[in-house]
Amino acid sequence: MSKAPPVPEDQPLTEEEQRRLDAIREAHRDRIAKHNVHYLTLLRFLRGYKDDPKPVEKSIEMLGKMLTWREEQKVDEIVATPLERADEFNAIWPTGCHGFGKNGNLIYVDRVGSVDPSKLMGKGGFTIEDVKKFHIQMMERVNRMKEEQYARTGIVRYKNIVILDLGGMGMGHLGSKFTSPMKSFIQIDQEYYPESLYQMVICNAGWILKTLWAVISPFIDPLTKERIKFGTKHLEEIIDVEQIPRYLGGKCKCAGGKCLVAPFEAGYNPPRPALTLPAQPNANANAASSASSSSSSSAAAPASSSSSPATAPASSAEATRATEAASASASAPDSAVAASNQAQPAAP
Ligand SMILES: [Zn+2]
Repeated sequence: MSKAPPVPEDQPLTEEEQRRLDAIREAHRDRIAKHNVHYLTLLRFLRGYKDDPKPVEKSIEMLGKMLTWREEQKVDEIVATPLERADEFNAIWPTGCHGFGKNGNLIYVDRVGSVDPSKLMGKGGFTIEDVKKFHIQMMERVNRMKEEQYARTGIVRYKNIVILDLGGMGMGHLGSKFTSPMKSFIQIDQEYYPESLYQMVICNAGWILKTLWAVISPFIDPLTKERIKFGTKHLEEIIDVEQIPRYLGGKCKCAGGKCLVAPFEAGYNPPRPALTLPAQPNANANAASSASSSSSSSAAAPASSSSSPATAPASSAEATRATEAASASASAPDSAVAASNQAQPAAP
């Protein structure tokens, strides 16, 4: 049985959704504040379980599980602390954010095929707990970047594109040194970061995976299947060529052609997509969310309407955070360009 299609990310909240969001927020009010759970995260938990027979209860349950997991795993600490041997890990497992898709979704590149399992978890390598920490830190950083984008543009984009590069994958990847971290990543992503995937493009897949996919794909939910494409040829359907890594046939401008060498902070900071929006979200728009949105002009406006209720922070704390992030990013060299030059991506 297939589910209803996902709600477009920036679709304004319906009255029903707003009621559900209020209930979710009320159920975990203290912990949401304690862990600075962002509005975009609440939206993922709201919309990720919309097809459940009891959507509000399910969202509350899963958000509660996520918060408990954060506390048990000390996720806030993992995010705040530089992890030991990070350079070594990044060299073994290159990952990172690499620009934005045509629709404004952050692109995350994972060169998983290049991982040498014996270096990763062999003698002198990393433990499964270490590897999980790197993954959690990366997932949190991806979320921070989406939150920064929201603060800067007011546009709601809680999903990201994943480019999964399997180039280099071989029989060595069938052993537990590789499959056990992969299993734990899948579990973490599904349970604690729901509704995060916009589209996955799997590149350089060998014939084994393609054959396997042909066998299992009839049993996969059609909507999930729609989000997974095989082959670099699909990259340009959703990503401008300037944002695609050169080694995958794109024309990115990463220094020396070395994408993901220094992931995130010091890495490639490509031009942001053209989005016609003010620099920060309009907190007053929240008031509009209690009114009927179906007949308002903002609901009928294109996705770029910043006054749509879905783009408004739903609490004063979130508004403050969003504003702080917006002012923090105002000093970034690209933000002024991004705000003023909407027609053309600026040079990095
Ligand atoms: Zn690049």
